[in-house]
Amino acid sequence: MDLQLERVTEKEAKCKPDQSCLGFGRHFSDHMLVMSYTEGKGWHDASIQPYRNFSLDPAAMVLHYGQAIFEGMKAYRGKDGGIYLFRPADNLARMNLSAARLCMPQLEVDKVLAALKELLRLDQDWIPSAKGATLYIRPTMIATEAALGVRPAKQYLFFVILSPVGAYYPEGFNPVKIYVTDKYVRAVPGGVGHVKTAGNYAASIMAAVEAQQAGFTQVLWLDAVERRYIEEVGTMNIFFVIGEKIITPPLGGSILPGITRDSVIQVVKDWGLDIVERRITIDEVLAAQEDGSLTEIFGTGTAAVISPVGSLHYQGRDCLINHGKTGALSQRLFDELQAIQYGAKEDPYGWVIKL
Ligand SMILES: *Cc1c(COP(=O)(O)O)cnc(C)c1O
Repeated sequence: MDLQLERVTEKEAKCKPDQSCLGFGRHFSDHMLVMSYTEGKGWHDASIQPYRNFSLDPAAMVLHYGQAIFEGMKAYRGKDGGIYLFRPADNLARMNLSAARLCMPQLEVDKVLAALKELLRLDQDWIPSAKGATLYIRPTMIATEAALGVRPAKQYLFFVILSPVGAYYPEGFNPVKIYVTDKYVRAVPGGVGHVKTAGNYAASIMAAVEAQQAGFTQVLWLDAVERRYIEEVGTMNIFFVIGEKIITPPLGGSILPGITRDSVIQVVKDWGLDIVERRITIDEVLAAQEDGSLTEIFGTGTAAVISPVGSLHYQGRDCLINHGKTGALSQRLFDELQAIQYGAKEDPYGWVIKL
């Protein structure tokens, strides 16, 4: 890929934010990666350029018909000062699955990864060194062709922006309170629930707002057909520990195939634990809580890595999980994955790339 480079001038370079109060997705680095696609020509005009506004035609198709897909991954600053990426090619491969579902063009994973590494080298001072802080990487693709009419666009823009983010748990784990909704659904069979496309998140906002107004952190979604089977929570996949078994819903097309989910499955298998991917109803979970066999629930996703669930609220009932405390498996998985991601522990899986 022919990659043009336009650096920020000294005057344009931004002040780095205070690492102790980064939050999530509020600050952006000096540069971004941009490239264009035109039907018949393929990807062209790849460049690293100063982070700045785009100019879009008001008829740009993404603004009307929502052809927009994205990814989320992180760069970690190791104790040795090294920069580590966790399974980045898997994120780009998933983006290609999203692109295929929305009739958007395929990326050349190797070339995009090489360009991303260039961007990270250039903006490496933006990768925080504070404990638990990381540089969040957001690849995005949108339809830019100026035309009305529902069909695949003929022009697209791909870009990657970088955002330094603070530790998800600055004061240790804080188990989340989850609202189980049977009023709204996230995804239907045959739809786009398995795709990181903007519309899924727009459609989820109302349920999240109502849950937050009622004092809960996140929404747990049930299947759209029977409203019984558990799907996932917010932007995380979900796991249950019942008796000796770890259970997570299968990838049936309505949940997002999380890379953290996949990593957790591989790690617990290696630990010799019993993990099954199968459908599980909310009633089975509540019954297991009542008879004492349910010991832990946790979510998995790039942002939090592991997020222990402290309670579930379903049909007016509150149900405490593991006395509202972080479970042993959640803690062990969090420590293991973080150690691999920060390059602190040998990675037997070939997941980590050192820049
Ligand atoms: C991104 C996402 C996940 C988690 O995927 P990871 O690859 O583990 O970050 C889970 N569910 C939804 C809806 C998501 O958008």
